[in-house]
Amino acid sequence: FDMFVLAFVERLFRPTFKKDDFVLGKKLGEGAFGVVYRGSLSQKPSSKKEGDLVLKKATEYGAVEIWMNERVRRACASSCADFIYGFLESSSKKGGEYWLIWRFEGESTLYDLMQSKEFPYNVETMILGEVQALPKGLEREDRIIQTIMRQILFALDGLHSTGIVHRDIKPQNIIFSEGSRQFKIIDLGAAADLRVGINYIPKEFLLDPRYTAPEQYIMSTQTPSAPSAPVATALSPVLWQMNLPDRFDIYSTGLIFMQMAFPSLRTDSGLIQFNRQLKRCDYDLVAWRKSVQPRAGPELRKGFELLDLDGGIGWELLTSMVRYKARQRTSAKAALAHPYFDREGLLALSFMQ
Ligand code: ADP
Ligand code: MG
Repeated sequence: FDMFVLAFVERLFRPTFKKDDFVLGKKLGEGAFGVVYRGSLSQKPSSKKEGDLVLKKATEYGAVEIWMNERVRRACASSCADFIYGFLESSSKKGGEYWLIWRFEGESTLYDLMQSKEFPYNVETMILGEVQALPKGLEREDRIIQTIMRQILFALDGLHSTGIVHRDIKPQNIIFSEGSRQFKIIDLGAAADLRVGINYIPKEFLLDPRYTAPEQYIMSTQTPSAPSAPVATALSPVLWQMNLPDRFDIYSTGLIFMQMAFPSLRTDSGLIQFNRQLKRCDYDLVAWRKSVQPRAGPELRKGFELLDLDGGIGWELLTSMVRYKARQRTSAKAALAHPYFDREGLLALSFMQ
């Protein structure tokens, strides 16, 4: 129960806000369950005209997203965008709407950065704040991708150690925080907190089919349903061990690794085509490689070459993430200890996290 007492005390001492306290700016995104805006506090007009906050107006699932963000802030704050406040704004319509406020972390998601012809060098510049003197080439690209992977896995390990499965890991939900010069996870709208049974019966229809693991359901259908209210249960850690729900996110992270290594998979159509091919190979990456390598174009060849550096250590990590059976996939923590990360990354200094 400590967690709830703490949450209550913390809330007492934090400022509270209502909708009128904010001015909305540019729309950043719109999904089926909410709209996201850039904005600022109306009391103290921010010096930056665009606003230093991000505001999400959410429908029925807003309550769960607020819960997840509160929990992340207390347990693993550095994993996700800085959450400031969430509230229910009652309106004349029944139910009202939920508002969530974060600090504006930066202009670009990993998706935006991957669309650039400069990728991954554009990320190198953002992480280091300068351009490296090393010549461009596979080795340097591999170091950058390695650093990005490390940051994503580090953030993911924080979530998983807290008991949260994100379920919507994709480049669009990974933001580059310009303040801390590292990638953070956003959009906990589809997340499940299994240790306390929040959002336990998953809304599978929310998930992005381009990045979902083949199992679709993160818990076996035989497991009893957990309470829907935020009531802590003691049995959840056991269920976690039985089902390894975190491996769902690992599969999605493996696909991001693939997209970074293979330029041809960075487009929607490229990724969808890859998913089709992999399914035809029964989700066996080695079989997929055998099937495409003989007729591989320069972009695919480049990806294999990058993953084959240092005795194929990158390929080894990738194949430990993208596997059909969740149980055979590595965890975020184990992945971070993989020899792929032993080599020097971008700069030893840049990831003293
Ligand atoms: P949804 O996907 O449900 O529309 P997200 O939470 O993913 O909502 O936010 C939508 C977009 O808004 C993100 O892809 C990102 O571009 C931007 N965004 C969200 N949170 C932040 C933040 N804290 N800082 C900067 N940009 C953000
Ligand atoms: Mg999103």
